[in-house]
Amino acid sequence: MTNDSLFSRAQQVIPGGVNSPVRAFRAVGGTPRFIARAEGAYMWDAEGQRYIDYIGSWGPMILGHGHPAVLEAVHKAAADGFSFGAPTEREIELAEAIIALVPSVEQIRLVSSGTEAGMSALRLARGATGRSKIIKFEGCYHGHADALLVKAGSGLATFGFPTSAGVPAEVVQHTLVLEYNNLAQIEETFTTHGPEIACVMLEPIAGNMNFVRASVPFMTRLRELCTQHGALLVFDEVMTGFRVALGSAQSVYAKLIPGFKPDMSVFGKVIGGGMPLAAFGGTREVMSQLAPLGPVYQAGTLSGNPVATACGLATLKEIAKPGFFDALSARTRSLVDGLNQAARAAGVPFSGDCEGGMFGFFFFESLPQNYGTVMSTDKERFNRFFHAMLNQGVYLAPALYEAGFVSAAHSAADIEATVAAAAQAFKAG
Ligand SMILES: *Cc1c(COP(=O)(O)O)cnc(C)c1O
Repeated sequence: MTNDSLFSRAQQVIPGGVNSPVRAFRAVGGTPRFIARAEGAYMWDAEGQRYIDYIGSWGPMILGHGHPAVLEAVHKAAADGFSFGAPTEREIELAEAIIALVPSVEQIRLVSSGTEAGMSALRLARGATGRSKIIKFEGCYHGHADALLVKAGSGLATFGFPTSAGVPAEVVQHTLVLEYNNLAQIEETFTTHGPEIACVMLEPIAGNMNFVRASVPFMTRLRELCTQHGALLVFDEVMTGFRVALGSAQSVYAKLIPGFKPDMSVFGKVIGGGMPLAAFGGTREVMSQLAPLGPVYQAGTLSGNPVATACGLATLKEIAKPGFFDALSARTRSLVDGLNQAARAAGVPFSGDCEGGMFGFFFFESLPQNYGTVMSTDKERFNRFFHAMLNQGVYLAPALYEAGFVSAAHSAADIEATVAAAAQAFKAG
């Protein structure tokens, strides 16, 4: 089977041939690779071509594919039953493991996708505060719940417009969309709407506009304003959680801002280890507003699924081992340093950054601070680079606004091979 023939067949029965849009390679052009199997740091497509995988299922595969301890846990759990619709001990274990690693989370609820977790966190924030308005930032993605599919309107600090057909303007009328890292806009918005704001939701290191860190002054001020106005600060750590550090991105900011904590957190990706699993959590006070204790409704047939929780738990156990994040961070840093050097040697405008096992790069002189700048970076050059890398067996995210991921299975030789391929690609222009 060729990738081309599979893609034609897929398009007959699945819209665009894919079950999630970015997989279709629309941004970069060409035929998506149909993956047959994966092991460690590698994936093989339907034609038998091997790739060094820097997507890792968009983040979950932090141990690489098919880690023996995870495989064993999944096999064992599957043999005991796929799903019961009744509570299990493993759900408690996973909740306890997450709470032990993330001090801001006192209670947590498990769900099946990041979208579901973000949507539920939003409802809970509104229910707990009795307020309607929410603040989100342009370039941050929190899943595809209606109220979050919003882009900024024209002018500063304005209400947003739906970014998808099928989302009525009324549904996003309470969503304020601001520029990431823009201090003046959050000040102005809290001054105008302070008592109506239920929550501020953000990706603390935004991986859905490639890799953009919230600046320390911005984060500090967000925390102050939320506290002052009684709004909840919600960290969407679906991507960054247990990926940029064992304590997630909030532990990175807690080192820079004394006493820093968000009020609520949303997790996904790594906590499921590649299985459908996500979660949202926060203080006991906020979480007790959730059904069956409180008035905020939320539920799920497959929530806390026994096979998914086994996969997530086994994954968390591995990444909590001493030295895991030091080694992963060093490996990721060696990739970004290598790419930066190769670009400089070729005279290509380029900037890269990383934290833990997450990285990003731009065909741009400096690191962008917001979505507008990210989208102004050299897209044509990125697309040529993407295909040049793919042809050399390196699988990067197929769009310039997506982050990349290194796993514990990536060897020093894999990184060297990747940097060598990049040097070729940079030279080719
Ligand atoms: C991936 C992602 C989501 C959505 O998670 P799904 O499991 O794809 O629904 C939400 N927020 C962030 C920050 C993400 O990276």
